[in-house]
Amino acid sequence: MEVLKTVAEMQAWSDAKRREGLRIGFVPTMGALHEGHLTLVDIAHEHTDVVVASIFVNPTQFGPTEDLERYPRDPEGDAAKLRSRGVDAIFLPERDEMYPPGFATTVHVEGITGMLEGWTRPTHFAGVTLVVAKLFNAVRPHVAVFGRKDAQQALVIRRMTVDLDFGIEIVVAPTVREEDGLAMSSRNRYLSPDERQAATALSRALRTGYQAYLDGERTTSALVQIMMQIVRSEPLIRTDYLAIVSMRNLDPVDKVGPGTLVAAAVYLGKTRLIDNWWVEEDGSAEF
Ligand code: AMP
Repeated sequence: MEVLKTVAEMQAWSDAKRREGLRIGFVPTMGALHEGHLTLVDIAHEHTDVVVASIFVNPTQFGPTEDLERYPRDPEGDAAKLRSRGVDAIFLPERDEMYPPGFATTVHVEGITGMLEGWTRPTHFAGVTLVVAKLFNAVRPHVAVFGRKDAQQALVIRRMTVDLDFGIEIVVAPTVREEDGLAMSSRNRYLSPDERQAATALSRALRTGYQAYLDGERTTSALVQIMMQIVRSEPLIRTDYLAIVSMRNLDPVDKVGPGTLVAAAVYLGKTRLIDNWWVEEDGSAEF
């Protein structure tokens, strides 16, 4: 497994693989890797011949009061995990390699970036699209894999990839959960034991709403009530939003059906967690 630290090295590696006729898969991460990230690597292997993972804690996607400085970092542990899953190269740039002095360009997707996560994190997606565009240009993959846990992010990346003609296939992978249902997240390690216990109410609420949907409930207000009752029963949780929206434009919908996203964000103390489920355009749904 190669560790590449500069954009030029990364591009040269990928160009060589392309000349050999190999298809390149890419999994962008911010490190502190867990089984959710590693599943994305497995899925990338299913689609391509060689797999690159990047580890970069991207400062531009953090707001001024967010957890950039304390975001967990474990490059050696991460490298061992990626090696064990057969990753061919890690792209591990320093901050200045990605944003050298004089850097002045923005990449911004209009519309859907202002909703849901955008309500509380208004600058977040501009940072995500900027770094992902740069990572795409460094890695030059054929396929990139993103997690459904960050559903809005996947939609934003898809939009950018089409709009800017990257010609990269975006694969969205299912959410990997702890045994008690909590979606795996690098931020889960911030939780105190009490908060960790309370956090299960988020996935429990979403799963209960999902089950009600499968049992035939389609009305947004009824589903919101079912889910909010569970979240509200947990005093350590403060709800940021629970929204039922169209995946096309993230506008609210009255009924849940094909193309609907059910997404929530909550705080436990200072830690912000998100989770969701959605119904595909073909009507299939997965929690
Ligand atoms: P992050 O390192 O948190 O920026 O996440 C990197 C990638 O891993 C993103 O595409 C996330 O959506 C994905 N991811 C994070 N948590 C999970 C999870 N529990 N299951 C599946 N994918 C995940």
